[in-house]
Amino acid sequence: MATCNLRQSVIDAIKAKNDFLCNVGEHIWKNPEPGFREVKTSAYLTGLLRDMGLEVKTGLAVTGFRADIDTGRPGPTVAVLGELDSLVLPNHPECDKNTGAVHACGHNASATSLIGTAVGLLESGVLDSLCGKIALIGTPAEEGIEMDYRKGLIDAGKIQSISGKSQLIREGVFDDIDISYMHHLSSHYGYNDHNGCVNKKITIHGKSCHAASPQKGHNALNGSTMALNAIAMLREVYSDNAYVRIHGIITNGGDAVNIIPDTVTMEYMLRAPTLESIVSLNDRFDKVVMYAAKAAECEAVIETVHGYMPLYDDPELGEVMCDVVREVVPGIELVPNQKFFSSCTDMGDIAMIIPAVHGYCLGGKGTSHGIDYGIGDQYKAYVENSILNALIAVELLRDDAAKGSKIAAGKKDLLPIPEYIKTINNLSKTVRSADL
Ligand SMILES: [Zn+2]
Ligand SMILES: [Zn+2]
Repeated sequence: MATCNLRQSVIDAIKAKNDFLCNVGEHIWKNPEPGFREVKTSAYLTGLLRDMGLEVKTGLAVTGFRADIDTGRPGPTVAVLGELDSLVLPNHPECDKNTGAVHACGHNASATSLIGTAVGLLESGVLDSLCGKIALIGTPAEEGIEMDYRKGLIDAGKIQSISGKSQLIREGVFDDIDISYMHHLSSHYGYNDHNGCVNKKITIHGKSCHAASPQKGHNALNGSTMALNAIAMLREVYSDNAYVRIHGIITNGGDAVNIIPDTVTMEYMLRAPTLESIVSLNDRFDKVVMYAAKAAECEAVIETVHGYMPLYDDPELGEVMCDVVREVVPGIELVPNQKFFSSCTDMGDIAMIIPAVHGYCLGGKGTSHGIDYGIGDQYKAYVENSILNALIAVELLRDDAAKGSKIAAGKKDLLPIPEYIKTINNLSKTVRSADL
């Protein structure tokens, strides 16, 4: 099939399923589930993929799945990812009334695009003109929320990473993948690089006593106050790094007003733009907090878990994506990777090991992660998003997978998966000021 016919048949096949894909997207919108709990979502989507004749591996990173479409000819394996998890936002008018869950940044569209991509590749006849494989992967738990629940899963031995994509890498799901991409709803088309992060639980230990005789105790709240001030001063050290973010909350500041508290707990997130800056910030932060606690005659225990790697999109793959967007959305002005984002995504973990792009496209309305968020344009969110995904696969795998093979060759310059796992294990540690 000639290239323009290939593209048109994919577009026609997906557009012919407009109503079906909009129903899928709305079904997921109405059944939101947060990370590592996407049981209904996963069962629903894997059922649809099986109905299309695909074999689906399930139970990956608890609720994730993978279905491969094999052209039967040698070539790279391209993964198309769809995010499964929702946020929890109990004040959102359309949230699940029991759990507060809601897709307040549009992961229901990302999940739907897996089905739309399968439709575009399987029902258009393009596979005969492609080489290699397409792996459709449902990825759980992108949002870094419900840390206690995830820590429980870690303690139960069910996961080792708090984010879905990182856990999928640990489980070997990406071992044979050469290229990876996905789309996320936004207010613009294109892609952007992002910060990475670590998450921390800090416990300050003191000694309780009657609050009218504070000299008999060691006030853990004083230890945390010292730590908060020291952390504020630490920010000055990173004045030349515009993307470092240090933010936290006190989750327990004591239990009774007439008792000098012996325990204060805090949660912190540290964000930075490179792996090196995350490692350096992580170590400095821990030292500053531990010495500050000691200055108030308290001790600190800091439990750190790897959050996300910084995201550096592959520019060649990004160009393929931008070309597809320009074709599907005529007249669009698109500046690739114009701005570095201080937020984080676990697509950073994928991009650290495989040439990858975290694409943005339209379809949502309102404030991302806000109570007014919703799907503003069903066609764009569910159908156009699928067209973009399917056409990128076609671009990569047509003509003997010429573009795909070239981009896949970039994998050798990225972090090997065992090194990646070693790195995140080193970041995830518990330190105690008592050991200083
Ligand atoms: Zn989000
Ligand atoms: Zn998201």
